[in-house]
This record gives sequence, structure tokens and C-alpha cells, in this order.
Amino acid sequence: MVSFCLAAAVVASGLSPSLSPSRGGGTAFTIVHLSDVHIRMRFDAPARLRLALRAVRRLAPELVINSGDTLDGPRDTIAGTLDFEAKWSAWNEAVSRELRGLPLLNALGNHDLDEPLSLADSCRRLGMPGPYYARDHRGWRFLVLNSNGFERDTRQWDWLVSQLRTTPAATPIAIVSHHPIFSMGALVDGGGELIGRWRDLVALFAKHRNVKLCLSGHTHLADLCRYNGVTYACGGSVSGYWWEIEKSSDGKGSYLQTPPGFHVIRLSASGVVDVEYRRYEDPATR
Ligand SMILES: [Zn+2]
Repeated sequence: MVSFCLAAAVVASGLSPSLSPSRGGGTAFTIVHLSDVHIRMRFDAPARLRLALRAVRRLAPELVINSGDTLDGPRDTIAGTLDFEAKWSAWNEAVSRELRGLPLLNALGNHDLDEPLSLADSCRRLGMPGPYYARDHRGWRFLVLNSNGFERDTRQWDWLVSQLRTTPAATPIAIVSHHPIFSMGALVDGGGELIGRWRDLVALFAKHRNVKLCLSGHTHLADLCRYNGVTYACGGSVSGYWWEIEKSSDGKGSYLQTPPGFHVIRLSASGVVDVEYRRYEDPATR
């Protein structure tokens, strides 16, 4: 596997002058964070997705997190239809054959709600208990948000506040959202779109010091920054330039400066040990 080491972007926080990880006790374990699969039926995307997930599987992660835009809608028609059934099948087949039962947490992206997809149906197809939910794994609590319309969703906000209030202070928390809460890449991406109420979220996390990690996607740019002790990692994309080579910035599938890939993240009982963005082997992007 080709490893692409991320040039870390550091945001001055006043508290943490570098990206030195919040190391601590406990045995570290590996998770993989992938995002923006945008499965299409063109450009050999289903087969190339399987290469990506095969690379994930080889890392033997404890957990795989997919922060959304699993499907691709308006960009991709087949004989005049969006053929979502074919795309769901391609996704399910890639997951079942390559991840082979590895625990997978999915979040909803904006394209997972492209017409005629519906919230309830996409949640069901992605095996989600609802549009937002909590899951505990290896002593961490993962809070998966629905960032679509988050600014208007007072019920989800109240749920999140309640989760943060009732999670024991010694339990580290990771937040997953499709739209970034904090992102350097969003600036590069023409002032890209953050989750609604992101300033309120940043302030909320400052009151709950066990929030250690926020994972997101949407920009297709991999970035990493630390603010108020929280590591914000935007996970690039599995699809790069939406699987297209010709339009990509380097003729090798990249979107701007980020090649197709995913995050490999090491966590311990007390925080984030390491975050690395990696390419995966794909002959189409050589
Ligand atoms: Zn998106």
C-alpha cells in the first residue's frame, strides 16, 4: 500500500501549540475512517471501491467509520435513470465481500438524501438505528450525527447535549458528522460548507473535555487540526474526484491536493494517538 503522509495543518488554539497527540494509558487500537464513497456505476467505481475496502480489511481495524455520501445521485445516470438500486447493491456487495463483518458505523451525507432517496430508507439500507445514534466500542463512545439540516434540528441538539452530559467524564468521545465541524480543507475548498451551529458545537465541546475526536467528510480534502484539545480530522474521500481520472487535478484521481484514500487512526483509553491519511492501491490512479 502506498502511504500518503498528511501535512498536518495546525490551528492555533492557545492551549495546544502542536498536533502532539493526547497520548495516555491503555492499549492503542486501530480504526479506519472513510468518507465520500459516492458509489457510481461508471468509471469502474464498484470494483475500485472493493480495492479500497480490501485495503481497509488488511489493516484489521477494530472499527470502520463511514462519514457519508455513500451514494452518488445527480452526477450519475444510467440510461436516463439514477439506478439507486444498482448503487445500493454495489455498496452492499463491496462491504460484505471485503469488510466481512468488521463493525461499521455509517453516517448520512447530503447525497444519501438525493431524491428519490429518503431519510428512513437510507438509514435502513445503511443499517443505522436512526439518523443519529450512539455506539460504544473499546471504551470509547461514538456519537454519530446527522449533519443535514443540523441547525434546525433542536431534538438532535438536545440529544447530543444529553449524551455529553450523561457520558462518564472518563469515557473518551468521538463525534462523527458528514459536514465538518472544524476544517482547514473547507477553507481551501472555496469556503466549503461546515455543519450548522458549528461554533456552538465547538463551544459545547469545550465544556466536555472528554470529547477528543471529530471525524467528518464532505470536502474530499484530508485535513487535521487540533483546537481546544479536540482533534478534528476530515477524511478526504475514497472516491477522490468522484472516481473520475480525466477531470482530477493530477490525472491520478485527486481532488485538489488530496488523493483517494482514508484515515487510519490509533486511539487509546485517554485520547487520539495518531491520525494518518493513506492512499490505497488502485491501478486507475497510478
Ligand atoms: Zn457531502
